[in-house]
Amino acid sequence: MNARRIEKADDPAAVHVVERVETGRIDLVRFLYTDHDGIIRGKSAAGSRISDRLQSGIGHTVGMMAMSMLDMLQPVEGMGPVGEVRIMPDPSTYTPLPYAPGAAAMLADLVRPGGEPWEACPRTFLKSAVTELAGDGYSLLAALEPEFTLGRRVPADDGPDRLVPIDDSLCYSSTGFHTAHDYLIELIHDLEAQGLQVEHYYPELGHGQQEVSIRPAQALRAADNHVLYRDTVRAVAMRRGLWASLAPKPIPDQAGNGTHLHLSLWSGEHNAFFDPAGANGLSDEGRWFIGGLLAHLPALTALTAGSVNSFRRLVPQTWAGAYACHGVDNREAAIRICSPMRDDPEGSTNIEFKPSDSSANPYLSLGAVIHAGLDGIRTRAEPGETVDVDPAALPESERPPRLPTSLGEALDALEADDLLMNALGPLRRTAYLAVKRADADAFAGQDAEQECFHHFTKF
Ligand code: GLU
Ligand code: MG
Repeated sequence: MNARRIEKADDPAAVHVVERVETGRIDLVRFLYTDHDGIIRGKSAAGSRISDRLQSGIGHTVGMMAMSMLDMLQPVEGMGPVGEVRIMPDPSTYTPLPYAPGAAAMLADLVRPGGEPWEACPRTFLKSAVTELAGDGYSLLAALEPEFTLGRRVPADDGPDRLVPIDDSLCYSSTGFHTAHDYLIELIHDLEAQGLQVEHYYPELGHGQQEVSIRPAQALRAADNHVLYRDTVRAVAMRRGLWASLAPKPIPDQAGNGTHLHLSLWSGEHNAFFDPAGANGLSDEGRWFIGGLLAHLPALTALTAGSVNSFRRLVPQTWAGAYACHGVDNREAAIRICSPMRDDPEGSTNIEFKPSDSSANPYLSLGAVIHAGLDGIRTRAEPGETVDVDPAALPESERPPRLPTSLGEALDALEADDLLMNALGPLRRTAYLAVKRADADAFAGQDAEQECFHHFTKF
């Protein structure tokens, strides 16, 4: 019956979802979106109601895009108590959730009740950026490379709960493989069951720190995948009595968690960054794209590493890319030109954007990166010389500029960046700035333990 109603709407993807909900005996389908503070939120529809909800979405208040990560609603015109949007799922993203038997999920847009796009929808922002990029003949292939901390959430006598890492193993040590093995095997299984293609896994520098990377995908799919990834990392841990956090710095004295962005532009079947005759194997477009990222870097940081906690990670000599420069395989540069793999030089030519973490909204982050890089190509922005040493080791007069050292500083840079402010548009930028400024104020009076607590419990 449900399937027949959808067929009338002539959307094969939606018909397929209804069939899969029925045959998979799915009781609840989560419609997920990501808010300005990077929190994954949503509502779910009963499996028996999925046919209708696929056509019109689930009703939601406009105010939620003015809600901060502390659930403090910010005063933003157009996002008050009056007004409604729909959480409108994309049926092509349907996936049963292996860690939540009986449940499935779809990534969703926020649309107006009549179905028209809503100016504050983050997923629509990325889709528009992808369309603009396509107008210039390119598509963006992106791989997010997340790190996270595996541990236990433990009450403390004299303060907020702490995240106690699962081990004190060394970077890439086989001991780390042993201690996290059962969790990792379940995680890999659950990620692949949702269609994410796992590339590598290894324990990294910080106690309990893990890195599981995912194969590149087209920008929208890569962002959708990252939302599924974050939920899976945390849910698999919770079901085992563990706690996993992708917060940039969940434990003050341990290594931070980056989510570096690996990027390449494609023109059809050709990697537009690839030119074996060009300097460092890069084409003009590749070089100009880097020029665009560098030109907009301080502002971009407000979107790619946009939590108060992000700036506790983004410091020199932690391989987080705290300097505004680029270099070949330089892990202290914000942009690393990755040396290609010799089995597939064209396919593996990419740049790594390091000042990025999982507290960002991945749709806003990738969309902003596209706008900045495309601007670089259009204006033929030269990035200057590569930096091929640790910038911190250079005399001050030769050292490239530091990235912003606080969220407030990054937001100031964003407000001064006409390209990104125009791309965000009035409603989105007003709400984004309001939510982020509120975070900066809220955490200003808190110590490191409290700040880390609020971030490791949410990311
Ligand atoms: N953990 C580092 C960061 O915060 C990255 C280390 C690495 O290069 O893998 O970005
Ligand atoms: Mg790493």
